[in-house]
Amino acid sequence: MSGADADGAAPRRSIATVCLSGTLTDKLSAASGAGFDGVEIFENDLVAAPFSPAEIRDRCADLGLAVELYQPFRDAEALPPEAFVRVLRRAERKFDVMEDLGAETVLMCSTTSAEAIDDDDLAAEQLHTLADRAGERGLRIAYEALAWGRHVSTWDHSWEIVRRAGHPSLGLCLDSFHVLSRGSDPSAFAAVPADRLFFLQLADAPHLAMDVLQWSRHHRLFPGQGAFDLPGFLRQVLAAGYRGPLSLEVFNDVFRQSDPARTAVDAMRSLIHLEEQLAGTPAAATLRDRLVLSAPPGPPELTGHAFAEIGVDAESGPVLGGVLADLGFAHTGHHRSKPVQRWQQGDATVLLNAAVVLTGDPGQAVVGALAVSSADPDSSAARAEALCAPVLPRTRGPAETDMAAVAAPDGTSVFFARTGGNWMADFLPTGAEPTAATGITGIDHVGLSQPFDHADEAALFYRAVLGLAPETSTEFAAPFGLVRNRTVVDPSRRVRIALSVAVLRRGEWAPCVPDPQYIAFRTGDIVATGRALRAAGVPLLAIPDNYYDDLDARLAIDPARLDALREIGALYDRDAHGEYFHLATEVLGSRVFFSVVQRTGRYAGSGSLDAPVRMAAHRRQRLRALNGSRTDA
Ligand code: MG
Repeated sequence: MSGADADGAAPRRSIATVCLSGTLTDKLSAASGAGFDGVEIFENDLVAAPFSPAEIRDRCADLGLAVELYQPFRDAEALPPEAFVRVLRRAERKFDVMEDLGAETVLMCSTTSAEAIDDDDLAAEQLHTLADRAGERGLRIAYEALAWGRHVSTWDHSWEIVRRAGHPSLGLCLDSFHVLSRGSDPSAFAAVPADRLFFLQLADAPHLAMDVLQWSRHHRLFPGQGAFDLPGFLRQVLAAGYRGPLSLEVFNDVFRQSDPARTAVDAMRSLIHLEEQLAGTPAAATLRDRLVLSAPPGPPELTGHAFAEIGVDAESGPVLGGVLADLGFAHTGHHRSKPVQRWQQGDATVLLNAAVVLTGDPGQAVVGALAVSSADPDSSAARAEALCAPVLPRTRGPAETDMAAVAAPDGTSVFFARTGGNWMADFLPTGAEPTAATGITGIDHVGLSQPFDHADEAALFYRAVLGLAPETSTEFAAPFGLVRNRTVVDPSRRVRIALSVAVLRRGEWAPCVPDPQYIAFRTGDIVATGRALRAAGVPLLAIPDNYYDDLDARLAIDPARLDALREIGALYDRDAHGEYFHLATEVLGSRVFFSVVQRTGRYAGSGSLDAPVRMAAHRRQRLRALNGSRTDA
């Protein structure tokens, strides 16, 4: 073993209480449960708590949490003398709290006060005075430039003031949001002496053209969930010599109302994944004698969708089986120990599982599991576990394949099947053989609606745990509200998952198809497959003529091709890299449908441009079905 590894230490991981929903007690329990080493305690959480700071300190100690930071202390500097007297009094009271709390560092953010004077020397002088007071008690002040600070809004300006103040108890808090939202260059951190880097706060965010304060207060995300280069940022901070905790500070409207225990696990996953992205870089090699970053087993190569599983009941099972038969699938096997049917065509395998418990009225169906083919399922499972994915118990009987599975944030079971492995041995053959009946060759992707509270968590889960990368991200106006669709894909484009979520939490006005799910099959000839499906009586969705008239107007498609699409009810999209044809069955049960797609070139995504047309058609079909009439209106 190298001495470098033996001497290094893992960075402490911390989370600000403001990231989590609930009261301080809920937040501390959640942070501890997810494995954090420390917390930033937000003043509002402390003020609302019925415990003294000393009791909170004890509670944190019991939970294994260090109090890494107390925050925020606002509007402290660059003030007229009489106002600064009041600041000193306030500071002394807060230093009392910090001593009781066991917090060594307080965050002071650059002032937004209308009283503040644009005078760096005055700001430095007053911060020096405050640092003197803090230093007498063994406390430190970390000065942070708010991106919307009145006179100080960039990190380099905050450093200039800290430098002028020249006090050992005054240093910088670097916050990735404030730095990156202003387009500042993190490589300049190298000019700051390491002993002036007091604290680091990490937050990601999507690219948004909006007021920076609103952007920060509502749309921050955990690292890996947004568009900022967090690995690049952290690399620069560590290269500059920072050795304090890696602390998450995320203000997010959804996280504020979500189960804090889950949010904390999501946060921990993001930090581990962030560290991992640095661990393998040349820059990290120079840090190894001082820092050991997380390095879960790398993501093994994925080679395709091994199967998708639909939970059915006694009513929906025959319906789904009938449609699969009409789609040209063969019922090739049944499970040795469970009421599970295996249906196959080409490389597409669908399992109908009647052993799962479905809620709601009889006739429900739900996509409950998907399996990816992995070159190394054991490493896939070990990686998933290292990234905080809940490992599912393996319930298997004799002579059955041992297949690891984890639970995705929406409850979907994700299995790791060995590429070329013999998991099919779990099934006894029925005698039927798969054929190329309708030209379906495999599973192109699986589409899953995500719970509102867990959409960002899900995107990070599939990226980090499975090693998938974002392919497309779109928002569209669906008939019942805005929908965001994010497609993630493996490097070889053989495993693709389309995640969709309502942009705003839904109210009582719900569509006929809440939370749709689908399995998209691949074909090399959409027209031939479409005609075969129509001839077989597959309940394909009727697409209105208006759609094809618009397609003609927009894209001037060859008339014969347009007629063929109209005939089979296929939707069409194209981008700079290729084309995408797709058609859908009616909804089976209350939320599941099948889709058949053809891609040409390197078209990216899952046809979400046409989703509103498809969703409106599903609505019409569901209304007819619910009203007891299946005839086209
Ligand atoms: Mg901050």
